Amino acid sequence: DPVPGLGLGHRPVWALLVVENASEEPVRRQLVIGPTWLDRLDVHLRHGGQFSGRWSTGDEIAGVPHLNEALGYVFDSTFAPGRSEILIRVETPDPLVLEVRLLKPEAAERVARLERYSYGFLYGFIFSLATYNFVLFVGMGRWPSLYYAVYLLTFIGLNMAYTGRALAWIWPEAPHVQRYAILAFIVLTPCAGLRFAREFLDLDQKTPRLARAVVWSYWLAPLLLGVTVLANQHAAAVWLAFSVMGIFVFAMVALGAYSFNHGHRAARYFLYGALASMVGMAMTLFSTWGFLPFTTLTYRGVEIGMMLDATLLALALADYVRRQSLERERAQREARMDVLTQLNNRRGFLELAEAPYRTAARHQRPLAVIVLDIDHFKAINDQYGHALGDAVLRDLGQTLLATSRRSDVLGRWGGEEFVLLLPETSLDEAEELAERLRQRVRERVIVHEHTRVQVTASFGVAGLGADQKLEALLEAADRAMYAAKMAGRNRVLRAT
Ligand code: GH3
Ligand code: MG
Ligand code: MG
Repeated sequence: DPVPGLGLGHRPVWALLVVENASEEPVRRQLVIGPTWLDRLDVHLRHGGQFSGRWSTGDEIAGVPHLNEALGYVFDSTFAPGRSEILIRVETPDPLVLEVRLLKPEAAERVARLERYSYGFLYGFIFSLATYNFVLFVGMGRWPSLYYAVYLLTFIGLNMAYTGRALAWIWPEAPHVQRYAILAFIVLTPCAGLRFAREFLDLDQKTPRLARAVVWSYWLAPLLLGVTVLANQHAAAVWLAFSVMGIFVFAMVALGAYSFNHGHRAARYFLYGALASMVGMAMTLFSTWGFLPFTTLTYRGVEIGMMLDATLLALALADYVRRQSLERERAQREARMDVLTQLNNRRGFLELAEAPYRTAARHQRPLAVIVLDIDHFKAINDQYGHALGDAVLRDLGQTLLATSRRSDVLGRWGGEEFVLLLPETSLDEAEELAERLRQRVRERVIVHEHTRVQVTASFGVAGLGADQKLEALLEAADRAMYAAKMAGRNRVLRAT
């Protein structure tokens, strides 16, 4: 078996490899042993009953000789013609997977190049997503993005630890760090994932009890690991770490499915992502555990799954941001709009009136305002009901809209009172328009559920005076409208 997977906590093993060199010349080969996760590794080369080479290394040896960050442990060996034997002794409390390859130097170079490119791509991909999400957090204060970035970084940490890259690059002189770093990351990655899930799926709001369980598990797991490590129970720590990872993988899928079933839209992406990383992680886990054959695909399953997961979650976050901004836009629009008539409300009207008012005031251009109020509207409500009253208001709104110009600013001032701001319009022209409107309102028959009603309205018109504020102009028109009411209603009066 080229890759015996002996599982966790196996006793030290010896492996014997027989090499037959049928040529007349000595041949050079790279003996590649991986993945690095082997505490002690002793290799002996024997030819014709004589030991011709001996190397000792392993994760537990300071300086980790022969460690190549792309391939694992690499021993440059030469085989004389005839039969040689390679004797390998491995010892580790961690998953004992032993992948032994004998490669031509060019082949080893090719494999190493592919490994470097693919891991460069993987780390670059995950790093840029993490950075992007961190920026989203800093720029927009979005906490799910921060937890997501942390989750991605723990994944890189985990990957760098168990593939031996961190050992080769960061802590070659610190075997005790390597001993626990992998286990720590195996536990921290799920914890960061659960923390993110809690935030992203809004568990606190939606299912507080589930949220509490999640909080408990991401505090308890590292605590338990700390205790087992302090008690120097390495075998127990390994079992614990792998169990946490195994449970986590299913928990993420379950949380995603649960949230999705309870109507959380973005949970769909979360669920698909969790499924992808579950399949990937299960492949890696089971291949290092010895339940699945160890191949490049199974061993690197978690990386493929994680890239899919990361992409889907990035999509989910983008979707979330998009829907939030749509929601905000809608809320802002509605804050300026009157729901009944679909016209500007007082706030919307004042905002839109500001610019034409400034232009008119600065360049001494004519500007007029018409304020109108339905006569005896209360009686209509009392006689025919509120629904008909609403229909009258809607109808009047449409009449005003149809009669006004595009540059006019129209709004429902409140109740049954409407206001029109008319740029480039003199007081005389405004009075004419008000008169036309008055007749149109009077003639209009509003039909609502077989009831026909007609209403009249009183109009006040005012023109912008020198140094007059917008509020003062509106008040003048309002006073004129009130005067029209006093004078008998259904008429137009101009401000004096
Ligand atoms: P006047 O001729 O003096 O203006 O008399 P009026 O009855 O029109 O004036 P008043 O201010 O006394 O009453 C206004 C009525 O408008 C009272 C209120 O019930 C009604 N009203 C205000 N907003 C709405 C609305 O959105 N829908 C309906 N159906 N009625 C409304
Ligand atoms: Mg009225
Ligand atoms: Mg009124």
